[in-house]
Amino acid sequence: MTDRLSISSDFSYIPSDHIIRPEQFIHMINADKALDTILNEARVLSAEKLKLRKALRRTLAEDVVAKENVPPFDCSAMDGYAVRSDDTKSASERKPVTLIVIGESSAGNVFKGKLTALQAVRVMTGGTIPKGADSVVPVEQVVATDDEKIQIAAFMKPGAHIRNAGEDIARDSVPLQTGDLLTPAKLGVLASLGYTKVKTRVRPHVKIITTGDELVSPGAKLSAGQIRNSNRYTLSGLVEEAGAVAEFVASIPDKRKQIRKGIAHSLDCDILLITGGVSVGKYDLVKDVLSELGVQAKFWQVNIKPGKPLFFGTFEKTLVFGLPGNPVSAHVTFLEFVRPAILSMLGATSSTGVMLHAILDQQIVKRDAKRHFIRGIATSGNGVLRVSTTGTQSSGALSSMAKANCLIVIPENVTSLPKGRKVTIEMLTS
Ligand code: AMP
Ligand code: MG
Repeated sequence: MTDRLSISSDFSYIPSDHIIRPEQFIHMINADKALDTILNEARVLSAEKLKLRKALRRTLAEDVVAKENVPPFDCSAMDGYAVRSDDTKSASERKPVTLIVIGESSAGNVFKGKLTALQAVRVMTGGTIPKGADSVVPVEQVVATDDEKIQIAAFMKPGAHIRNAGEDIARDSVPLQTGDLLTPAKLGVLASLGYTKVKTRVRPHVKIITTGDELVSPGAKLSAGQIRNSNRYTLSGLVEEAGAVAEFVASIPDKRKQIRKGIAHSLDCDILLITGGVSVGKYDLVKDVLSELGVQAKFWQVNIKPGKPLFFGTFEKTLVFGLPGNPVSAHVTFLEFVRPAILSMLGATSSTGVMLHAILDQQIVKRDAKRHFIRGIATSGNGVLRVSTTGTQSSGALSSMAKANCLIVIPENVTSLPKGRKVTIEMLTS
């Protein structure tokens, strides 16, 4: 008996020029394959040395070797007294030990002398531990003091409340690595190691073109049939947030000649983003124009929702993305496909967003075999991360994207998910 599958793929009874073979209509590619194709084309950009205060959010283009110890010397972790542990051995509440205070060591002002038996030096947090001392008694644990004498009622272990030289970062260690994103804390590490400049990746230059007869700027009058150009602003923000430089080129009507002219002038960047006009409508001219201009198409249409019409191609070293015009589709395809390309050009250690698991607070019904990215709101309570959807998932509903703090990722092979099921979520930056 012949099964259904082999019947449906047997075209032998149809004259060959009438057959639409599967490969001709299934041009949609899988999301992973699409991302691989993009990352394969994204080259790591060159490096430049920057002053620390210009390097925030840049990616490191070198491993950072500690040329100094941090802290540079043994210092006190508390306000108190530097003492010899040995002197406190017999100390107890009933029989406190009395020590003579012979001087002071505060942050930046080193005590020059040396401690001998039954002596103490007043120390402030960050003050150098004087020679001869090997532990610090916090001021709160000193029983009675006058200016010259203190009483200690407990044993202080050697090393107590002392930060040793190199305890935080040891000389010759590698506290930061190529590909690390320079956060404020990492800039602090560089500064504490004495670096004034750092080698970082050049930021990718991303040009943005929006297309559509209906688009007008936020400041202009809205006539019949027109809508505001929101993609221009969302995409510029996303580009900058991903660490690249955004340049908005123009909003172009759906006229072949004008689109051609706009794109021809914009192929001289690292990434060109064009929104709108990549679907199957009569005025979706972008793909044709890209092909006429010599952009090599790598794929068109991905098995995802939203964002199916995504186009990707290359022109020399430029990556060219045709993003769907629907604001949510443009946003999601940017996050899933353009952002990884930017991070890859920046040589970043990771090119994905933060992925977590959460418990679904409601049922999700899915009727196709696409990968879905559902706008979600994740909340944590009682040690559990839960997620619900933002409501409407229309790809035009930009307000629901603005409400979301994550995308719920539903794999291709999953249909319905009941409430209480564990799902993967991708956190959005806020
Ligand atoms: P398209 O991909 O050109 O077929 O556009 C799909 C939908 O997205 C249409 O409703 C467009 O009006 C809308 N759209 C396209 N470009 C933009 C844009 N730059 N800003 C806001 N909406 C847009
Ligand atoms: Mg359009």
